[in-house]
Amino acid sequence: MEAASAAIQSLMSALKSRTKPLPQNKIINDRYRPLVYSKAYMWVCIRHLFCVQECLENIMLLVIEGAGKVSVERCMRAGRMRITVRPGLIRVSVPRGIPLESGRAFAVAQMAWISRQLLRIQARTRIHEELTAGLPQISDRAEASSVIISRCRELSAKTGLVFSRVTIREQKTIWGSCSSGNTISLNINLARLPDRLRDYVILHELVHTKIRGHGRAFWDELDRYIPNARALRRELKRYLLRLMVSCPG
Ligand SMILES: [Zn+2]
Repeated sequence: MEAASAAIQSLMSALKSRTKPLPQNKIINDRYRPLVYSKAYMWVCIRHLFCVQECLENIMLLVIEGAGKVSVERCMRAGRMRITVRPGLIRVSVPRGIPLESGRAFAVAQMAWISRQLLRIQARTRIHEELTAGLPQISDRAEASSVIISRCRELSAKTGLVFSRVTIREQKTIWGSCSSGNTISLNINLARLPDRLRDYVILHELVHTKIRGHGRAFWDELDRYIPNARALRRELKRYLLRLMVSCPG
């Protein structure tokens, strides 16, 4: 534990010593500056707790006007420079052997694309907020879980698609899944969705007990139980799971 806190101390002082401004860029002048105390930075640094120097050499965190926080990170697996835009943090992966500064320059050169992605995220967030404004909240998790499980059993009986077990979880990225042993896992936030979308997800997973993957045969089979499955899938995509909280407060 002591070794860990000593490593954090040494990391923090090393970070403080790096507050000098980055080289001025002719086009953007002083529009960017190093950002020292960022959660993202700390998270990545803590991953590298015992190799502080390596961490400092492999990550550069900046704020670029119009883009916000940008983390330029060396990624050993990256074959080429890559930008990932997430709400709150833009990440630039830099392959081995290429200076981090090139990653920063790449992000600056790609600002038009980054801005378009940010606008797209904003638009999707706005649609999500409009859609979820009228949805019921989950006040009782046990009750919400039992409603979903009952519906899963009901649809299984109706369709003859048999699962071995059903679990309710609160995944941040998926609405449901079906394991190779036919255990179905469903997201508790399904209880908040309109019935047609909740049924779509349950039937989707039930069909996976019979057909793995998402080929033509899968969609044809799913259409037998719920018409317009693909349209429902598009409708479901408008709800952003990362923004859904089952029990607020
Ligand atoms: Zn699927």
